[in-house]
Amino acid sequence: MYPSLTFDVARAAWIAATARELEGFAEANRAELDACDRACRFPRELYRELGARGYLAPMVPAEYGGLGGGVAEYAVISEEVGRHGLVSGQIASQGQRWLLDWGTPEQKDRWLAPLSSGEAVFSESISEKNAGSSFRNLTATAVRDGSDWVLTGSKTHVNLGPASDVTLFYAVAEEGLTSFLVDMTLPGISTQQTDPVGLRLIPTGDVVFDAVRVPASAILGVPGGGLETFLSTFNISRLGNASELIGLARRALELGLRYARTREVGDSMVTDFQGIQWMVSDAWQAVQAASLARDHAALWHHAGHDIAFETSVAKRLAIDAAEKASETSFSLTGGHGLYTDEPYHSILSDIKVLKVGGGSSEILRNYLARRILKDPGHEGLA
Ligand SMILES: Cc1cc2nc3c(=O)[nH]c(=O)nc-3n(C[C@H](O)[C@H](O)[C@H](O)COP(=O)(O)OP(=O)(O)OC[C@H]3O[C@@H](n4cnc5c(N)ncnc54)[C@H](O)[C@@H]3O)c2cc1C
Repeated sequence: MYPSLTFDVARAAWIAATARELEGFAEANRAELDACDRACRFPRELYRELGARGYLAPMVPAEYGGLGGGVAEYAVISEEVGRHGLVSGQIASQGQRWLLDWGTPEQKDRWLAPLSSGEAVFSESISEKNAGSSFRNLTATAVRDGSDWVLTGSKTHVNLGPASDVTLFYAVAEEGLTSFLVDMTLPGISTQQTDPVGLRLIPTGDVVFDAVRVPASAILGVPGGGLETFLSTFNISRLGNASELIGLARRALELGLRYARTREVGDSMVTDFQGIQWMVSDAWQAVQAASLARDHAALWHHAGHDIAFETSVAKRLAIDAAEKASETSFSLTGGHGLYTDEPYHSILSDIKVLKVGGGSSEILRNYLARRILKDPGHEGLA
């Protein structure tokens, strides 16, 4: 695990302790996690408990109640969340990143500490019915009215939308795409929970803004700077996506192997069959490759470089690894794995959602191809 992030002895000890604690936490709360997953319900108390232990804010400085770490800590926690089927702090981390990179002192003082402790919940209201992969067809509007702004638009697929206390709302202003940090208790906001197949512990919802009046201080960054705020945070959050996918891949393989090692078929165990062994070997290699790419991106960021290319490679490899591992887990478990009270279908569904959210597999491939064709000297290709 964490092939190159364990390079540093102190960090290796922290990683081992974190992995143990999150595994223990997940096992102690397995029944509640499973019930919430089935019901598509946000386990708010468990989320708060993770926040109290610092696991919702790996990159937030200690003065705001975070762990004070960097992308390595973020990657480790995200992977362990996937590996143990825990409620994800991914959306909180994105919100915190936005605040740290673009927030005014007032915005940071208001939101960073409660988002770190899990007392407040963040959501990002970007996608619309007719605008997902591309911003071109976004219809939400932001119109100046005196010193205020009036926001109108319908967002969809918003993780934790109905449960959130604050959302980052993307709308088109005269100056162009603009992001607003909006208190969800303001008049004119309504939500409706939806029912996705995966990531059901952080359910999605529609978020509708009907002439919501906000002060100019709600803008994150500057009017017209929405694309910049979006890209800066998504480059890092892809590292979290990749890590969660790697964790899901490990979970699928570990659980599948635990079953298959003791499952007799005739006078053999499932793991005695060479066809099965090769699948395990291929899936494990894919997980290792994705882990190395993810670690490389984390270390590259730590060294102060732009990581748009590296995180896209890591996420793409992590998607492939997770799909391969999930497929293998079904071969390891046969009919036993094909029931809703077994975890394998839920792992597969989480993988499918992570494959689309935060930059779909196809969009990442387009981006990588563009970079490779335009800039073959890029160090990511060395
Ligand atoms: C469970 C879930 C949670 C989500 N959470 C959030 C959230 O919290 N906040 C939020 O704002 N959004 C969220 N999303 C929305 C997500 O970001 C979008 O679904 C995603 O960006 C894809 O947009 P789309 O679904 O509209 O697909 P479309 O843009 O309609 O694309 C359809 C298909 O075409 C592919 N495609 C698109 N363009 C190209 C191209 N140029 N070349 C090749 N293929 C292409 C896409 O990859 C996709 O497979 C979530 C979605 C889901 C399902």
